[in-house]
Amino acid sequence: MTRYIGLIGYPLKHSISPYFQQAALDYYKLDILYEVWETKAEELSSVISRLRHYQNLGANVTVPYKEKVLSLLDEVDEQASLIGAVNTIVNRDGILTGFNTDAYGFIQALRKDADFDPKGKQVMLFGAGGAARAAGFALIQENIASLVIINRTLKRAGVLAESLLSHVDSAKSHIKVVALSWDSLELQEAIKNCQLIVNCTPVGLRYSAQDEQIPLKADLIPSNALVYDLVYNPSETPLLKMATKAGARTLGGLPMLVYQGAAAFELWIGKKAPLNVMFSTAKAAISKM
Ligand code: NAP
Repeated sequence: MTRYIGLIGYPLKHSISPYFQQAALDYYKLDILYEVWETKAEELSSVISRLRHYQNLGANVTVPYKEKVLSLLDEVDEQASLIGAVNTIVNRDGILTGFNTDAYGFIQALRKDADFDPKGKQVMLFGAGGAARAAGFALIQENIASLVIINRTLKRAGVLAESLLSHVDSAKSHIKVVALSWDSLELQEAIKNCQLIVNCTPVGLRYSAQDEQIPLKADLIPSNALVYDLVYNPSETPLLKMATKAGARTLGGLPMLVYQGAAAFELWIGKKAPLNVMFSTAKAAISKM
């Protein structure tokens, strides 16, 4: 009997998860199909309901439903409820449990692909959506020294800063978290001391309205920083090109995508994810887009 895993989001035209997840399933010769379930907002609750069927092993959830989906699940694991976003659902005997593997993928890529230890570092993060929440919580758990959150909508950055601060154990740690607006003069001062700059917005994403755009000015990037762009298509985003010119180190979003996918695979299948297969398939898929 064929079993299924779905990718739930809207729109899904440019996702590469189906390629590398199917390659990982095929590596183990499993009779499982990873399908694209493009879902309109009004269809979300019925798609989640259908997921309880015994033929479905689970799903990935992406933009714009990572936060909305929480209330439709039976259980949400601790990390996902802390972050307030679910990107992986597991169906066990009709019980749906939500997980967040983005935070794990974010840190894993930072450590393994950029050899960067976040502990004690000063970090600037652009964006305050689902990816920024996952990255923010992951960084706090890694005991960074400070976090500056920049967002187009300042209020949302403030809400994220408050939420992160409320989870800092002030008896054990003194992590500073502040929210700043995109055009503030303080940003220009704060960025000078940052060792890590992370783009958690879709600015620079190919085929989007923000294609070819850059979230900050070239002369602001410190040459000793690591610039990490969660956008994975193109693999060298305009921001990363600019960072390289400024002499900074760079990390693209592809490793995070693969690590979060590998963690999801292990939750559904209970076998070690074949990382090499997933990486090579993901890279090949991007190069064809
Ligand atoms: P989201 O929840 O929709 O949040 C988007 C964020 O970007 C918000 O803070 C939004 O600001 C900001 N934003 C959107 N358009 C903007 C623009 N034109 N100029 C400035 N800011 C803008 O999305 P998300 O899930 O956080 O995803 C964000 C990006 O990360 C996407 O490109 C996604 O592909 C990428 N991502 C990558 C991975 C990976 O594994 N590599 C994983 C997750 C996400 P407002 O609050 O003002 O609307």
